[in-house]
Amino acid sequence: MIPVPEAIDIVKKEVGAPVAERVPISEAAGRILSEDILADSDLPPFNRSQMDGFAVRHDDDSESLRIIGESVAGRGFDGKVAPGTAVRIMTGARVPEGADAVQKVESTEESDGIVTMLEAPEAGQNIVKSGEEVRKGHRVMTRGEIIGDNAIATLASFGYSTVEVGARPKVSILSTGSEIVSISETPAKDQIRNSNSELLRALVSRTGGEVSIRPHADDDLEQLKVAISDALGDGPDILIITGGVSVVAYDFTKPALRELGAEIFFEKVSLKPGKPTVFARLGETLIFGLPGNPVSVAVTFHLFVRTALLAMQGAIECGLREGFAVASKDFKGAKERDCYLPVSLGSDLQGHLVIEAQRFGGSSNFIAFSKADALLFIPKGGRLEQDGIGRIYFLR
Ligand code: AMP
Ligand code: MG
Repeated sequence: MIPVPEAIDIVKKEVGAPVAERVPISEAAGRILSEDILADSDLPPFNRSQMDGFAVRHDDDSESLRIIGESVAGRGFDGKVAPGTAVRIMTGARVPEGADAVQKVESTEESDGIVTMLEAPEAGQNIVKSGEEVRKGHRVMTRGEIIGDNAIATLASFGYSTVEVGARPKVSILSTGSEIVSISETPAKDQIRNSNSELLRALVSRTGGEVSIRPHADDDLEQLKVAISDALGDGPDILIITGGVSVVAYDFTKPALRELGAEIFFEKVSLKPGKPTVFARLGETLIFGLPGNPVSVAVTFHLFVRTALLAMQGAIECGLREGFAVASKDFKGAKERDCYLPVSLGSDLQGHLVIEAQRFGGSSNFIAFSKADALLFIPKGGRLEQDGIGRIYFLR
């Protein structure tokens, strides 16, 4: 049995170099940058007013100034603010030459083309200097970063109507198990619906993969070998197989991979849930065999498959974000394996992040799992006592 971090390192090592492609900005959210993003202009591009008011000279001798024009966003005032004069200015507009302060309208009084300062303006007040936010040529995002929804404005502002990102890995999903029927069927006695394939479709798509769902295979060695060979026919980057990875009769995933000549990197991880997870390669395709329980599928996806998907797209950060939280009750680990327990998080009145509830009552409890926010790590043989601080990995 190998520890989870070691298994994750093996996954990262086996992933090949990312392939870049150029996509329109409308398809960039959630992808991984393959290029640095540079500012193509100073921000702001001119001295910009932060207030509605009057552009003035802060050291003007007179308090009453003649209004000589106005500077509006998109149509600045091109003249000069000479001593004794002021220009009406709007938020976001260019500060005209000669002025070095903006007095907000609330601190002025205006009549008959004359504005009077009710307070003395200070030098630079309410002005964002050209280039103060970002200088032209500055790197504002880095290759390997994920393009979050909030980063789209950055791309747009600097003219990136297209952007270079890691190509989407092609991922095939193959469910196995003689008891599994499709979602549209009503399960007969001894049958259950296939929840894993659609669960994985959602998880893989969110992580940038392009999904193809393969026809389901029964617990039959020959049928499974054919199903795997067929799945590899499309040349996917990753094949995810669910079910049949334990070592009892009717578990044929590992025998099928062996008989097909796959190179197996690991097949037993010190992990609950998810111990029998197998990671292998056949031809150019990386293969993950995940245990059939939907919760095990989700946990092993987040730990291993997600890492592979992100690494394939060139991400710098491929692992789940780590953090710490206070236990609201006792959490028990397992004797012989490290636990990665799905939990939900909240906060207390002191401002601590709190582990509220276990979202895992046996690996088939996917209804509770759907409300999980993080995985709580408990080393083998250990426990986390109430009020103790636990290591967590954020799922979202
Ligand atoms: P296995 O890994 O084949 O031993 O399956 C473990 C458990 O997960 C069993 O209760 C299976 O019925 C269930 N299971 C396997 N495949 C699926 C699937 N595609 N959807 C939902 N449950 C599944
Ligand atoms: Mg099975």
